[in-house]
Amino acid sequence: MSKVLVADKINEKGVEVLEGSAEIVNNPTITPEELLETIDQYEGIIVRSRTKVTKEVIENAKNLKIIARAGVGVDNIDVQAATDNGILVVNAPQSTSITVAEHAMGLMLSLSRKIAIADASVKSGKWEKSKFMGMELKNKTLGVIGMGRIGSEVVKRAKAFEMDVVVYDPYISEEVAKNLGVEIVEFENLIEVADVMTIHVPLTPETKGLISKEQLYKMKDHAIILNCARGGIINEDDLYEVLKERPELKAGLDVYENEPLKESPLQTLDNVVLTPHIAASTKEAQRDAAIIVAKQVKEVINGETPGNVLNMPIVDSETFKKLKPYFELTKKLGQILVQTTTSNISELNIVYSGEISGRSKEPLTRELLKEFLNPILTEPVNSVNAKSVAKQRGIKVTEGETEDSGKYDATIKISVKYDDEEMTIEGTVENKELKIISINDYDINLTFEGLMGIVKYTDLPGTIGKIGNVLGDYKINIAEMKVGRKSEGGEAIMVIKVDQEITEEVVSKLEETEYIDFVKSVKL
Ligand code: NAD
Repeated sequence: MSKVLVADKINEKGVEVLEGSAEIVNNPTITPEELLETIDQYEGIIVRSRTKVTKEVIENAKNLKIIARAGVGVDNIDVQAATDNGILVVNAPQSTSITVAEHAMGLMLSLSRKIAIADASVKSGKWEKSKFMGMELKNKTLGVIGMGRIGSEVVKRAKAFEMDVVVYDPYISEEVAKNLGVEIVEFENLIEVADVMTIHVPLTPETKGLISKEQLYKMKDHAIILNCARGGIINEDDLYEVLKERPELKAGLDVYENEPLKESPLQTLDNVVLTPHIAASTKEAQRDAAIIVAKQVKEVINGETPGNVLNMPIVDSETFKKLKPYFELTKKLGQILVQTTTSNISELNIVYSGEISGRSKEPLTRELLKEFLNPILTEPVNSVNAKSVAKQRGIKVTEGETEDSGKYDATIKISVKYDDEEMTIEGTVENKELKIISINDYDINLTFEGLMGIVKYTDLPGTIGKIGNVLGDYKINIAEMKVGRKSEGGEAIMVIKVDQEITEEVVSKLEETEYIDFVKSVKL
């Protein structure tokens, strides 16, 4: 039975998910030395933030398939080292979405009804009823910056408060917005119309300092601004300056430029509510994180692909359905190429056409690289490390696409450059059958499987007959044959399906024959 190490304290519901599927070793106090020494026993490891899964640990982890972070941040995991060693890294970003959205709502209410400051006042023995006039949220406009997992949950909750919602997120479609019943607006517009503005974008070079003096001055007098995303998205010095000048403007922050927040002038203001980065801290979020990652570990142990993989792109289910028939094609084309070229490949170009264009083909490219590299390398190459292994080996991988796939639903054309030579193969799936359409741009229309031979020759009378004779001499029966040429008397390609294997001896015999350039035996 697979062994899984739970190296940090996680909610017991997560452990329950794994029971029966794996032998679970619960050691939430494991030391770095102990981890390094014992990691080779495990197929899976679950951590929170205490345990550091370093490069050294990963390199010792000969049987490890998955590193699971029961939470979101993976600063304690060397993701690159995991990728290089073909180990999946997963986390549970969705575990905190509702928790953070509820915290944003909490800050919103705390500021709209001055709850925090009123609480402090009552606790200090005062009764200042008139001082705490609030603002109803009903019919107010909520501006959401970033409508991903958390932003969407905030929208649902704001709708229950009968707020109007506008969103700024240049990366979401009109359809997503329509389904959530929100209006997409320009950034400047959102700043001006929002009674409450809440930020749910990642911290990126683009979002760093997204809100500074310029935006803060444009906000409505009584507006509320919330940040439960990441410190640095709002310029804190600017925020202090504007809040001090405009006491009706209010801010609720859970995250800061520098954490922990020690001394900040923001702490002196009444129109601010500050929490110590606790938006994601609920028991439910921790339980859900443990369950989500345990399920992913179970999936990997059972040979399935989990959801939140950080070091392998996962495509949406619709894209996956479209790509599915082409996995086998990519795999088989890769196998043909690896048997017909040398391992000294410098460039590999893949062009996807037709119904598979316009969506992510990343899984197909990785499948191809995996097939291509696995037979020639001792280290296991899988979908996680395929790209980085190709890079390490100096193979330049490029991808292209065209909508036009001629009479086929979709085609995949792969070209490889090796030892100053180039080979191109193009295939498709027709009526669920894999087909070679062309080799080196010579039209070949052949369903393929099993044992095959690829012959390059000069198209002169009698050459095909000679090939047939040699195969006949060795009792190799030709089941099907297709030839492709560009002009009479010029270079030509023959692909044959055979009932018996074309052995090395037969290959040498054929290559001795006049006008035969090369012969490759392929076994799929
Ligand atoms: P997500 O990836 O699901 O969503 C992010 C959204 O932001 C996406 O829809 C994306 O299109 C949008 N976006 C990206 N760049 C943008 C830009 N320049 N302008 C406008 N929109 C942009 O992420 P999520 O899980 O919803 O998390 C949102 C934020 O919350 C992140 O910063 C995350 O780190 C933070 N977070 C904070 C806590 C906490 O404890 N306070 C906990 C979890 C997550």
